[in-house]
Amino acid sequence: MAEKGETSAARHPATTSGPMIITDSPSPNYNERFFPTTGGRRAISLIILHYTDLPSAAEARALMQDPTHQACAHYLVDTTGAIERLVPDERRAWHAGRSHWAGEDDLNSLSLGIEIQNAGHRGGAPAYPWAQISAVIDLCRDLCQRHGLDGQAILGHSDIAPDRKIDPGEWFPWEKLHTHGLGFWPNPGMADKAEGLALTDDGIRAHLTACGYNPALDLKTLITAFQRHFVPEAFLDGGNAGHADILTRTRLVDAAHHARARGGALAFPRQSA
Ligand SMILES: [Zn+2]
Repeated sequence: MAEKGETSAARHPATTSGPMIITDSPSPNYNERFFPTTGGRRAISLIILHYTDLPSAAEARALMQDPTHQACAHYLVDTTGAIERLVPDERRAWHAGRSHWAGEDDLNSLSLGIEIQNAGHRGGAPAYPWAQISAVIDLCRDLCQRHGLDGQAILGHSDIAPDRKIDPGEWFPWEKLHTHGLGFWPNPGMADKAEGLALTDDGIRAHLTACGYNPALDLKTLITAFQRHFVPEAFLDGGNAGHADILTRTRLVDAAHHARARGGALAFPRQSA
């Protein structure tokens, strides 16, 4: 394991007590951000959440520090809530891989990546402890503040790479994050339900594209990705992931309206001319 560097403290708002401690665990797996990107955006504008898919944070750290592995996020958050920084925010960490959101193909250049220690689907989908989620909330708030992002600028790896990735998993508490001012969460009304019931497959696809999902992928893959983030009920017993049921349609309509009102996509900030 690499030597632990200096600790750095950052002020953090609201939730818990004491300064947020970030330990440096440098990784070589980054390069410089490329601008302008495909869609022409020019700054760090997203935070992408991942799970490590490994039994321990030590293993995740070792892998991300391995130069032959060529993959790394900016931050690693252990189940205890301990936060490590592997790549400076300014650099382009290699965490997103082949991905797409709202016309952008180089999400690594536009985002910060946070790996959250969790053994993942293969490891039995263990619950995320509150200490860990609380640390993720503090870290996201701090990053949003430092980079001028509003709290909505947060997505999962499965949102931007739905044909390859299923992290941070349908049991990740997105709704809980939203109650702490982070990420979008649907709040549909009766009109959304009526509109959702009437949607054709083409209409569903158009709404998913409006949210930011990759229009080149097949509809079932996109619906499943949307559900993994915004309709976790679809993955419970008796749920029907991949099928656009009424709950999915209703939340999708609300999400698409919200995305359009935001200027073209969920999470991405409004584009300035
Ligand atoms: Zn990931």
